[in-house]
Amino acid sequence: KDEKSLHFIEEIVEEDLKTGKNDGRVLTRFPPEPNGYLHIGHAKSICLNFGMAQKYGGATNLRFDDTNPATEDVEYVDSIKYDVQWLGFNWVQELYASDYFGQLYQFAVELIKKGLAYVDDSSAEEIAAMKGTPTEPGTDSPYRSRSVEENLALFEEMRQGKCAEGSRVLRAKIDMAAPNMHLRDPLMYRIKYARHHRTGDTWCIYPMYDFAHGQSDAIEKITHSICTLEFIPHRPLYEWFIENLSIFPSKQYEFARLNLTYTVMSKRKLLQLVNEKHVSGWNDPRMPTISGLRRRGYTPESIRNFCDRIGIAKRDNLIDMSLLEFCIREDLNKKALRRMVVLDPIKVVITNFPEGKVEPCPSENNPEAPETGNREMPFTRELYIEQEDFMENPPKKYFRLAPGQMVRLKSAYIIKCEEVIKNSDDTIQEIRCTYIENSKSGQDESGINVKGTLHWVSAAEAVPVEIRLYDRLFKVEDPSSESGDFKEYLNPESLTVITGYAEPALREAQPGESFQFLRKGYFCTDEESTTEKLIFNRTVTLRDNWAK
Ligand code: ATP
Ligand code: MG
Ligand code: MG
Repeated sequence: KDEKSLHFIEEIVEEDLKTGKNDGRVLTRFPPEPNGYLHIGHAKSICLNFGMAQKYGGATNLRFDDTNPATEDVEYVDSIKYDVQWLGFNWVQELYASDYFGQLYQFAVELIKKGLAYVDDSSAEEIAAMKGTPTEPGTDSPYRSRSVEENLALFEEMRQGKCAEGSRVLRAKIDMAAPNMHLRDPLMYRIKYARHHRTGDTWCIYPMYDFAHGQSDAIEKITHSICTLEFIPHRPLYEWFIENLSIFPSKQYEFARLNLTYTVMSKRKLLQLVNEKHVSGWNDPRMPTISGLRRRGYTPESIRNFCDRIGIAKRDNLIDMSLLEFCIREDLNKKALRRMVVLDPIKVVITNFPEGKVEPCPSENNPEAPETGNREMPFTRELYIEQEDFMENPPKKYFRLAPGQMVRLKSAYIIKCEEVIKNSDDTIQEIRCTYIENSKSGQDESGINVKGTLHWVSAAEAVPVEIRLYDRLFKVEDPSSESGDFKEYLNPESLTVITGYAEPALREAQPGESFQFLRKGYFCTDEESTTEKLIFNRTVTLRDNWAK
């Protein structure tokens, strides 16, 4: 039995189902504006809208909120569809607000005829000045009392392209003294001579968000229209249009948007990072976009899990990035095959191991998934281990390699450090060791107990690979709340590229495939990786070791 308590929107839906509202129907929509790629915040809205419909036997529309031709593009439409499906959700209908332009125009005409809308010739500045303040009422526009006939004629002229951009707007005639500023004769239509990615040059007037969204919901008979908190003050207007047009009474509900530490989540800011080349593109693995997270190695399950864990709240909050990282570790721990890769090599020579000999050492692919079996690690005379796993003058209780000390090489032998060979500049050239012949993993008869186990690769058999070590994109928790330009807070060390030495099994790594590099973290084969040039992105370290 699911013991998890319901969140407030589920409570509303269950109540509606109980009272037989909407004939027991649940139809939600996910309404992205195609002016950028989806980010993890959108994922929260996707999981909520699609998740609720799934839970209550309903369905979800994918509706592109494409009412602003200046910033929208089909590239974004395509990426959004791909990302929603990748997250694991299917929509019943793919719809576009622009498909309703004709219907919305008719709605506007209807409101004009009812004396509830008028054409205003005031400039944007004049309209703003007449708006008043939250504590003082606004003033009526001199055009507010135009006759229905005049308004109809002028609105038609606007549509026919007879008016200059900015010369006129259509406004709802509500109340210039309303305490809610959104009800002070809000704009419904503005003139824009811009080519729309779907309707081309058919229209030169475009509806405002407030006039398009609720009406689109009503046209589709959406039962629960879920949006983020900043739309609370828009709700009376949403309802005003629906009521005065006597159309399907969709209902708007608001939840807290997701904010994550060490990143930004507004498309406008993400677009700046892309355009100004602070990142390589929308799918740069440092970006909080779905495509960036995918390239970084995040799985759909980990993102859905994350959205589930953060829950649905009514108050804005800032979620710690480490929770998202916890979710991907948890998922990859079950799924990722284990491999050995030395990121910062130092050479080890096994002096009692014959030159040219290759000894296969079976090593488990994933202890969490025994059915994945073993692969073979070639053990040879010359090996690489990590620099940081050797210390010439170790402190007490140092269980890695040091002069005279023994360690186990994972899935292979116990070795003992006999000698350190230096370069002329006092740096270490190689470490000379002996191996204990009867200590092989799985058939160890040496009776020797060692505390440290190191990962390693054969120097002769290892494959040099490019490794991209990603860190947080920003240096501060909440770059948007800092003073000045948010880009001043970019982390200059968010990407470090190194060459690592990988065990031969990684030659087969396919783009998108994830691995645990033993003791180093989870890594994902980059989309640009080839058999000739393998590239791995660090998804996340094994433990939460961010310095505070
Ligand atoms: P941005 O400010 O990044 O441009 P937006 O809200 O304008 O975001 P839309 O494409 O209009 O972007 O968003 C589609 C849907 O996703 C909306 O219903 C919106 O409420 C929701 N959404 C956007 N950002 C977040 C977020 N950070 N957390 C939760 N939901 C979000
Ligand atoms: Mg929006
Ligand atoms: Mg926006």
